[in-house]
Amino acid sequence: MSQPHRVHVVGAGLAGLAAALTLAQSGVGVVLHEAAPQAGGRCRSYVDAKLGCRIDNGNHLLLAANRAAMRYIDLIGARATLTGPGVAEYPFLDRATGERWVLRPNAGKIPWWVLAPSRRVKGTSPFSYLPARRLMQAPAQAVVTEILDPAATIFRRLWQPLAVAALNTEAEAGSARLFGEVVRQSLGQGGAACIPLLPREGLSETLIDPALGKLSTAHGAFRTGSRLRSLAFESDRLAALDFDGGVETVLEGEAAILAVPAPIAARLLPDLVAPDEFRAIVNAHYRIAMHGDAPWFVGVIGGTAEWVFRKPEILSVTVSAADRLIDMPAEELAPILWRDVAAAFDLAAEPMPPWQIVKEKRATFAATPAQLQRRPKAATRWTNLALAGDWTDTGLPATIEGAIASGFAAADLLLGRAESR
Ligand SMILES: Cc1cc2nc3c(=O)[nH]c(=O)nc-3n(C[C@H](O)[C@H](O)[C@H](O)COP(=O)(O)OP(=O)(O)OC[C@H]3O[C@@H](n4cnc5c(N)ncnc54)[C@H](O)[C@@H]3O)c2cc1C
Repeated sequence: MSQPHRVHVVGAGLAGLAAALTLAQSGVGVVLHEAAPQAGGRCRSYVDAKLGCRIDNGNHLLLAANRAAMRYIDLIGARATLTGPGVAEYPFLDRATGERWVLRPNAGKIPWWVLAPSRRVKGTSPFSYLPARRLMQAPAQAVVTEILDPAATIFRRLWQPLAVAALNTEAEAGSARLFGEVVRQSLGQGGAACIPLLPREGLSETLIDPALGKLSTAHGAFRTGSRLRSLAFESDRLAALDFDGGVETVLEGEAAILAVPAPIAARLLPDLVAPDEFRAIVNAHYRIAMHGDAPWFVGVIGGTAEWVFRKPEILSVTVSAADRLIDMPAEELAPILWRDVAAAFDLAAEPMPPWQIVKEKRATFAATPAQLQRRPKAATRWTNLALAGDWTDTGLPATIEGAIASGFAAADLLLGRAESR
């Protein structure tokens, strides 16, 4: 179809926001529908009543290499809301041995940092890094542990934590090829691409609120409490959307983007093949104000916590692929994770500060080779309906970068700017 004059974007997570903004800024009339009372989906901030302060629903680390995310952040004018160390420095602590090191890839693409013991992972040699090249040629069905030796020190201290964080899937089940793509786009581009970027205040202040502001400037409408219940089709086109608030007829020259999570999309489009296996993420937040010279984050090897982030008033823990912890009572989990946090930031183990545990049972789809086969393209068999979301076929894991890239791709498809990915 030619460029639509009005598009309903359903779901105001990052995918829906990226799509809605692109369309609105191209002069298309946009209505962004969101079932919840607020935008942001799985990437947002809120006031936690127990802690008495604002927290993020998860610790979302961006890298300078995240091209779609950076384009989006520039589009919404939010660069100045990002902060971080300004250099590619990744401090680690091994809980089993107490050893610490800082991974410091050099800025350029030629990885001479592996030659410098002070820059590479403790206990590894320059040769330890060579097998990682095999990830790039991994067969589609291979999992990470089939390509990299799980008994190697570098696996335990670098590849495993990176794979689990990037794929939100254990290395024994995660796609080697997808992990290879993550490594290619990050470490493979050199340290300048690996500079970590964090929201100065919170996820919503950086990624959501400025986007809603830009959308309204571009005359896009945003409706909360607007849950899509069903879709109606006529031959090869979408004809109507049935929302909680009423039916929207989709006229000739109008279109829609479905930017809802995979299970919701599969319910709305019964013949859709979409990922149907998921992994949990567990976050723990401890209310404690740290000095500004404390590390921005620490990677914990061999603990229960995996990454600990310093935020305003909070130390916050992420455990990815955390299905094993999902049924553990929060009262048991909080002290276990706190011991890792205290060790990582050199704090006294007693008393434990006020805490909150947030469990996301279906945080992302499982990035297994079989599930990757189930990711659909942006285009559907209906001429005026496109799909977006971190679960669509972006070639990236379920991340901020993937979600935003999917929103751009769906908008470009409707604008006739690109083939479906
Ligand atoms: C705890 C946690 C930690 C994470 N950490 C990281 C990280 O460190 N780095 C990273 O890059 N990524 C991370 N992610 C992943 C990242 O948050 C997601 O990939 C991204 O936010 C997904 O965006 P999305 O727009 O595809 O989906 P969503 O954010 O799920 O947005 C979908 C939207 O659709 C709405 N919706 C649902 N049903 C309907 C309906 N019927 N009608 C209307 N609206 C509907 C939902 O309310 C939601 O707002 C993390 C995720 C979680 C949960």
